[in-house]
Amino acid sequence: AIAPALLDLRGEFPALPEGWAYLDAAATAQKPRAVIEAIEQAYARDYATVHRGVYARSAHMTEAYEAAREAAARFINGRADETIFVRGATEAINLVANSWGDANIGPGDRILLTQLEHHANIVPWRMLADRTGAEIDVAPLTEDGRIDEAALIALIGPATKLVAVAHVSNVLGSVADIAKIAASAHAMGAKLLVDGCQAAPRLAVDVVALGADFYAFSAHKLYGPTGIGVLWVRKSILDTMPPWQGGGAMIDEVRFERVTYASAPQRFEAGTPHIAGAIGLHAAIRWVEGVGIEAIDAHERALLGIARAELSRLNSVRLFGPADSAGILSFAVGAIHPHDVATILDEGAVAIRAGHHCAQPLMRWLGVPATARASFSAHSTEGDVAKLVAGIERTQRIFG
Ligand code: PMP
Repeated sequence: AIAPALLDLRGEFPALPEGWAYLDAAATAQKPRAVIEAIEQAYARDYATVHRGVYARSAHMTEAYEAAREAAARFINGRADETIFVRGATEAINLVANSWGDANIGPGDRILLTQLEHHANIVPWRMLADRTGAEIDVAPLTEDGRIDEAALIALIGPATKLVAVAHVSNVLGSVADIAKIAASAHAMGAKLLVDGCQAAPRLAVDVVALGADFYAFSAHKLYGPTGIGVLWVRKSILDTMPPWQGGGAMIDEVRFERVTYASAPQRFEAGTPHIAGAIGLHAAIRWVEGVGIEAIDAHERALLGIARAELSRLNSVRLFGPADSAGILSFAVGAIHPHDVATILDEGAVAIRAGHHCAQPLMRWLGVPATARASFSAHSTEGDVAKLVAGIERTQRIFG
């Protein structure tokens, strides 16, 4: 039976041929026609540089670029002057580690991560710790694969300068209670960075209500283009942050002896930005707001519920992660290697991801080298779930 929450949006995605179940949105989302057309028009009709041109075309492009910033800020209930365009979540976190981190982290300081972080929210902190003599702490998970919030809070000490956590796990789909973590971090004088890569496409995000200090996400997982993402930073912190990359567009005045810098966000956007990318992100945000982020979340959770129920009826399928996770399901099929599972599923026109999902510490915690992962999005259907289940049954038959 079709649950009332299910959306019917497949027809808006031109890159989804009939019969192909694309279940890898957590890696990167397919693009609705509205986004593709906005990018095409940015190049085919409106293109010029931003911020520098005095001619009308450039002024219009600047307006469009800054309107995209306004939209990105509003989308997470932030302000435009707190919102920096970056290449993606990876660059966002590296920016914070290099700018805020180098200015605020020293020997003996502690950075608290969790066992389920993506490498993008581990490696920049490891590099910072190696540069500065800081220490990394790791919060454990509950048995069903959520951040153990009580244990995390207990690990926040007076030397903890930063807590950095994923809002939604890219492997398990588990959703962190960010507001609770923020309150505890702030009570101990620590800042909170939230990796919102998997949350922005499926949860209503309100950086003010969450109490985050830094919030990062990538456009390409939010139905927008690759090469652009958002770093939101609380204004009072942002204004203290030194520039990271130097170049054009981020300066106030340049002399060989001395450079003064523009205020944020321009101070953090050196060089010609990804203009068409920002416009594509704006179109993606409009599209998501038109559908409704709550509707997308409900749709994905409904499909995930069906998938969990069907898969748990199959012998020897192990499901990872909590039952109430958002849109992302990792699993194992007996002892069959996830790459073999994904290959056989591909033969049946089902695209899933197999591997460590850039979360090797989490794989170690799960006790597996890799998982198979199906991730849902606004265009996913019950038919996709049926094909997934049929493909796994076929895998089991092939491997006996
Ligand atoms: N964090 C999480 C939770 C992710 O899922 C990803 C992308 N897989 C990233 C960070 C990095 O995003 P990007 O590759 O777009 O920079």
